[in-house]
Amino acid sequence: MDKKFRVFATCDIGEAIELLRSQGYVVEVYPGPQAPAKSLIVEKVKSGIDGLITTLRDSIDAEVFEAGKGSLKVVAQFAVGFDNINRADANRYKIPFTNTADVLTEATAEFAFFMMGTLARKMWSAEHLTREMKWGYWHPYLPFLGDEVTGKTVAVIGTGRIGLAFIRKCVGFDMNVLCYDPAYENHAFVKTIQEMTDFRHARGFTKEKAWIKYVPFEQALRSADFVSVHVPLLRAGESATPTYHLFNQANLKLMKPTSYLVNTSRGPVVDEAALARALRENWIAGAALDVYEKEPLPEDSPLRDPAIADRCRLMPHFASAARITRLSTDPDKGMAGRCVQGLMDVLQRNYDGDVSKMPYVVNKEAFGS
Ligand code: NAD
Repeated sequence: MDKKFRVFATCDIGEAIELLRSQGYVVEVYPGPQAPAKSLIVEKVKSGIDGLITTLRDSIDAEVFEAGKGSLKVVAQFAVGFDNINRADANRYKIPFTNTADVLTEATAEFAFFMMGTLARKMWSAEHLTREMKWGYWHPYLPFLGDEVTGKTVAVIGTGRIGLAFIRKCVGFDMNVLCYDPAYENHAFVKTIQEMTDFRHARGFTKEKAWIKYVPFEQALRSADFVSVHVPLLRAGESATPTYHLFNQANLKLMKPTSYLVNTSRGPVVDEAALARALRENWIAGAALDVYEKEPLPEDSPLRDPAIADRCRLMPHFASAARITRLSTDPDKGMAGRCVQGLMDVLQRNYDGDVSKMPYVVNKEAFGS
């Protein structure tokens, strides 16, 4: 590499930084665990960096792209979701941005599945009994019971990469699956899952025949025992079917009072004030959340109400937080590896410099040949 590219990373992404340095890149890493101020990002971009490594905490918009006019060539996002990056602005300034799709699919899907089980089987409340010396007896139903996951019906909202991976995990638990996705219905996948569940039944693995089908949104909510959300955050104007506050008061009221909501997608997909009310007033049986309208979750959030603590699990945006998934430098295994590969593809003009052919670039539409 003749030119020494300069890169600013808004947080440390582990060994992948050394990998970049070993290839001749000059990399500055923001040292704090918290996100840098936007003004610092703008200042670094203005100083003439070629590449910017970002996370979902950094707001990347026209102000940043304007500061990088003539020098900034790529924004490499360390996440699959990119709602913090203004796509229209990136396109206007012709700056490609990359994400880390696929490598976090299984980790996120399994975490969503575990959250569903933890919530339904009341594992948090049960462990508290043990730790707080409140486990005084074994009893058929006291002090409380949980609900089984096996054989129940789950609605999967958004059947993209993570939604489909989540469904694959549900097969082992003989769950019936209601799929909803307004953009694309993957009937080939549904057929394969049905064949697998039929096979399990035919071989005597399961007593009941499980099923899977696409249904309209309202039907999914009305019929499911569990609802797991796997959509991107799309605000009004960004999609014909925006997902902002998709789970609002009206839609939460469609769910069965015995049902559970699991959200590992993005916080603003759920109206938290409405959800807190739904839990307080028992419109639904419980919710497990990994993501929030404001992160970290504020101290005065209604979701922290001790009155609903037994049925509201709160995780710290942790679904992809597994060692290999986060930090492997292999672009086929880790977010770090895929993030720096996306950055290098653009800066080193891989794929004959054709941005529209680079696999990790998101906004290919701005670079069509
Ligand atoms: P994807 O693009 O493969 O799938 C998203 C699916 O949602 C698509 O099929 C799309 O058609 C569908 N969709 C769009 N609008 C919808 C609507 N209104 N209703 C129902 N479905 C709709 O993305 P993915 O890789 O599966 O990731 C999904 C999201 O999960 C990401 O955008 C990200 O925000 C979130 N995520 C969170 C974590 C975490 O740590 N909690 C980790 C990874 C991803």
